[in-house]
Amino acid sequence: MSLNNVGRPTRPTPAASTAHTSLTGARGLLQDEALIFEMGGWDKTGVDLAPADLDASDLGDLVRTAPIGLPGLSEPETVRHYVRLSQKNHAIDLALYPLGSCTMKHNPRLNEKLARLPGFADLHPMSPVSTVQGALALMDRLAHWLKTMTAMPAVALSPKAGAHGELCGLLTIKAAHEAKGQSHRRIVLVPTSAHGTNPATAAFVGYDVAEIAQTEDGRVDLADLEAKLSTDVAAIMVTNPNTCGLFERDIIEIARLTHAVGAYFYCDGANFNAIVGRVRPGDLGVDAMHINLHKTFSTPHGGGGPGAGPVVLSEALAPFAPAPWVVSDSKGFRLVEDTVDEASAGFGRMVAFHGQMGMFVRAYAYMLSHGADGLRQVAEDAVLNANYVKARLSGAMSAAFPDGPCMHEALFDDHWLEGSGITTLDFAKAMIDEGFHPMTMYFPLVVHGAMLIEPTETESLQELDRFCDALLALAAARAGDVERFTGAPYLAPLKRLDETLAARKPKLRWLAEA
Ligand SMILES: *Cc1c(COP(=O)(O)O)cnc(C)c1O
Repeated sequence: MSLNNVGRPTRPTPAASTAHTSLTGARGLLQDEALIFEMGGWDKTGVDLAPADLDASDLGDLVRTAPIGLPGLSEPETVRHYVRLSQKNHAIDLALYPLGSCTMKHNPRLNEKLARLPGFADLHPMSPVSTVQGALALMDRLAHWLKTMTAMPAVALSPKAGAHGELCGLLTIKAAHEAKGQSHRRIVLVPTSAHGTNPATAAFVGYDVAEIAQTEDGRVDLADLEAKLSTDVAAIMVTNPNTCGLFERDIIEIARLTHAVGAYFYCDGANFNAIVGRVRPGDLGVDAMHINLHKTFSTPHGGGGPGAGPVVLSEALAPFAPAPWVVSDSKGFRLVEDTVDEASAGFGRMVAFHGQMGMFVRAYAYMLSHGADGLRQVAEDAVLNANYVKARLSGAMSAAFPDGPCMHEALFDDHWLEGSGITTLDFAKAMIDEGFHPMTMYFPLVVHGAMLIEPTETESLQELDRFCDALLALAAARAGDVERFTGAPYLAPLKRLDETLAARKPKLRWLAEA
């Protein structure tokens, strides 16, 4: 293995278990690739400009005296470098991306084409309103469909991700309590299976987080909820379908009990993909819910680009919504920007401008290209695909909740690996050698050694079978071939990295610290 000058591995280690290793480090068409810093040519550039003819600079003694230290490559070298790097990663355009809780669906090319129309792509957020009427009309239509699909009267479009939407929802709830003289409410209730962003958001807003227990069959324990509800509770945060891939059957009762103590019901809408077109959260008593446009309406994170997390709001919370929002009259569309008049009770704003226009265009394109019937089929096919995976794998792997169907995600635990010397992590790493991205591992925390698979509606029967065949082959290989798992991945450019350390203490500089 070659190391760079700060001791990090930069090249693949030839796999001990493969019969053939190449002489150059390449794997067939997959070229070996050095770091850009190792490729030399520090004084090369792709352009040929005359030296700047400057006598004096306004920068005074801030003028750079040493070389800037950027690697120099020609255009073909640059293009090849990044294309080779891109081939070392899994991509939604290569194969199914089974991450649960993430809804990693295909990116329709139509969305990309529309988002690149100059009238959308070249907008400036400070353009005069009279020059961006089409963009405002699109935001208005998007808001209309989000409200229609959820049966909620208002929506704040500006939050830039699901977690940001949670923050928006809880700030709205806080403002509503304060307006009623209820600022003593300190507690937010969160089920044990919740996504980590839920308790993190509540704590960030300053609330105390209390956990609600889960029943044997993976749902909110109503008795525990009732015991913990009081007039000190500001809100509950429940995901539906929940992160075990199960529909909260008691959701209407959960809403009723919550409202009975004067608290609000925040629904984490990250899993809206499973029910879009079939269930309207407003009919269930939800007060606020974020919608991850980048999950339910395509453009998965990791599949490219930023996200957007609009928050739909009930009648009770609508007056406290953050600015801006779009209104229209005979003179056209405009944005309500200031917390006066119609926005006087609003808690402020989430972002400097109006949110992620590119995501609005993509989500709206996805809605229009599917139509009402198509969006309903999205939910039906997503659930069908997950149940197909659950049924095919259940013989070999142990489903965490074997009784009854799942929603859009199939959840397995690690009982079936007991005594094999193989962990969930090992199994996931072995999937990489078979050309598949691992499923979500060890989440939700309430299931031991969890493996959470979400195929989404965009996968065909053939692709689902390819995926299931690979997992079944691995499951069958586990007896007597433990090293295939414990040493995996053998065929990836790098092996097991310390991902936790890498996330907590990233080394972001190539050159050794001076
Ligand atoms: C993805 C997800 C979130 C957070 O959404 P981001 O857009 O990634 O910030 C919250 N809750 C659940 C259940 C999720 O799956």
